[in-house]
Amino acid sequence: MQILCAYAEEGDFVSEEKESLSEEVKKEDDYEKICYICHRPESKAGKMIELMNHITICPDCLQKSFDSMSRLDADTYKELAELSKRFPNMQMIHLSDIPDEIPKRQRVKKKKEQAKEAKVFDIKSIPAPHKIKESLDEYIIGQEHAKKVLSVGVYNHYKRVASGTMDEIEIEKSNMLMIGPTGCGKTYLVKTLAKLLDVPLAIADATSLTEAGYIGDDIESVVTKLLAAADNDVEKAEHGIIFIDEIDKIAKKKNTNQRDVSGKSVQQGMLKLLEGSEVEVPVGASSKNAMVPLETVNTRNILFICGGAFPGLEDIIKERLNQQASIGFRADLKDKYDDDLDILEEVTIEDIRKFGMIPEFIGRLPIIFALHGLTKNMLVQILKEPKNAILKQYQKLLALDGVQLEFEEAALEAIAEKAQEKKTGARALRAIIEEIMLDIMYEIPKDDNIGKVTITREYVEHTGGPLITLRGDLVVYG
Ligand code: ADP
Repeated sequence: MQILCAYAEEGDFVSEEKESLSEEVKKEDDYEKICYICHRPESKAGKMIELMNHITICPDCLQKSFDSMSRLDADTYKELAELSKRFPNMQMIHLSDIPDEIPKRQRVKKKKEQAKEAKVFDIKSIPAPHKIKESLDEYIIGQEHAKKVLSVGVYNHYKRVASGTMDEIEIEKSNMLMIGPTGCGKTYLVKTLAKLLDVPLAIADATSLTEAGYIGDDIESVVTKLLAAADNDVEKAEHGIIFIDEIDKIAKKKNTNQRDVSGKSVQQGMLKLLEGSEVEVPVGASSKNAMVPLETVNTRNILFICGGAFPGLEDIIKERLNQQASIGFRADLKDKYDDDLDILEEVTIEDIRKFGMIPEFIGRLPIIFALHGLTKNMLVQILKEPKNAILKQYQKLLALDGVQLEFEEAALEAIAEKAQEKKTGARALRAIIEEIMLDIMYEIPKDDNIGKVTITREYVEHTGGPLITLRGDLVVYG
């Protein structure tokens, strides 16, 4: 009996040890190796090659090192040695100098696999434009014309990409130029579209772009961003969308004697990208340098969408229309366009050229359309109607506490009026709602008896409180 017990205990110990070992292995599985040179993890850079002292290097960097070494001759070695004497800050890494035990920095924790959002459309069998617009309608209020033009443009673009036949009739690339005041949904429209199509999207700001070699991001950095958004998958990036915001800021500078490094030259620099060219971009880093592997991305099938507010464009359009109107018999209509709110829809290439964009640049953006400024009604709709409307978000949050949240129609109008004063379009809405909701979100969870909160116009205008209904249907004014 005793012997049996002893065996049992020993067995227990062995299995315990096994368990802790397998736990350790499991923990190790949570980590992946990173490249000592470019710092990319194994999942991105490919299988690591183990060198001495637990150093791991990715195949790209190893190849690069071999390539550069094979190019060095005896003289260059001498020169390098001289250089390191002259520049004491410049370091050469000797593998033997690296300590035996490399800290855990050599590995990074693997990201948990995220549940992938189901894509709505497949770009290989892209649905008809009206289907694309229907999906956009769920998120974007108004802007009917813009949604229509965008749906058709995207449909044509991806059909051209999917067909891959570029024989006799070459279908022109449908890059787009979107004009509309700030906060009217330009970026949101493109973001929603990219999400629906499940294509990578890079959003860049034209103000930060400068001619290569000057301070600022050079133009090709937009493709680097897209490659990063596509998880360094070149093929995926080549079907992506690049949205360049504030494109009006790279208009030709007027009356300047200095070199225009962020205006006209950026437009010129972008011509090739827009049309389609091979660009060498660094992988896993934001700038090119000797040790970062480069990938060639072809921009031919990348859809470029440029957006901008183009302040002052209305006056250019008005001037042109008024001039046309003042000729001949129609002279009496001279001031007809002065109060036209949708004047931007009359935009022509000539107006944009006058604004300061060079003809070659406009020529590569064949689809030009305008978005409306948001009216009070549209702002109210934006608050409550889109699939992920701000109000729905707060209602869901409070519902988790078992409290119903309602907004009186007049309260919504008051919020829209406040937002209009700020002149930043729908962007102001969230800030206003957040300010209103702060006290509510703070006070409500204190009292379990509260069943419903109704936000009134007075509460929004700080002249009264919200309407609070207790669970027994008792109405209390807050
Ligand atoms: P911009 O035109 O300056 O690029 P954005 O697209 O960034 O403006 O809009 C800011 C925010 O306002 C978006 O995130 C979105 O929530 C909201 N928004 C703007 N316009 C609309 C719209 N037409 N429909 C729904 N939401 C909108």
